[in-house]
Amino acid sequence: MSDDLQALKRVAALDARIFDLEEQAEQIPRQIKQEEQAVEDARERLEQKKLELLDFQAKTETKERELRDAEEKVTKLRQQVNQASSNKEFQSLQREILAKEAENTRLEDEVISQMQTLDREKEERDRLAAQVEQAESEVAEKRKELEKELKKAQAEVAELHKKRDEAAKPVARDILAKYERLIGRRGQTAMVPAVLGACQGCFMKLRPETMAQLRRGSDLVTCHSCGRILYLDTNA
Ligand SMILES: [Zn+2]
Repeated sequence: MSDDLQALKRVAALDARIFDLEEQAEQIPRQIKQEEQAVEDARERLEQKKLELLDFQAKTETKERELRDAEEKVTKLRQQVNQASSNKEFQSLQREILAKEAENTRLEDEVISQMQTLDREKEERDRLAAQVEQAESEVAEKRKELEKELKKAQAEVAELHKKRDEAAKPVARDILAKYERLIGRRGQTAMVPAVLGACQGCFMKLRPETMAQLRRGSDLVTCHSCGRILYLDTNA
């Protein structure tokens, strides 16, 4: 392999690392957003529960008022019983009181059952509120971690760019230009080894003349199929 190609191989290896690192770094803001979405979802569930609770509280209060009114009515009926002017009126009022009392017992049961449900709903709300709090602190922690990771990746990328520029210096300009055109199209794999007579970029079998060129160490050999720059992998 010519010195140019040796140097270009180093450049390609650095480009591949830069490409991977940049891809990783790009994921990080997305990850942060996902984490924050989880908190947002928990908050929404809590708000929903609070609304349901308010609604239920109002219903329970209505039911309680209904019961108080009904009880007052019974109290009034009892006063009327005391002032009954006839036996017939007395009996009719007594029947009415009994009927109303039975109705009130049913109302009482309803109020008690609603209050029990209300207690359960409050517990559920508290549980959701605790979930939100936990999610918030977890996300804050995770966010810090991810931001640190991002900074580290960015610093590493900057360092690799310097190394890459240094590594590119000895490469002949025309070869480097061709490589850079390719890397623009191919991402990180503009330069690939030929292993067992096949291009490792597109995995097509290489022509015998291409293999011969590679063995001769001709300056720039490209795959006839995908156009990537080839080198002989002497380890394979
Ligand atoms: Zn190829």
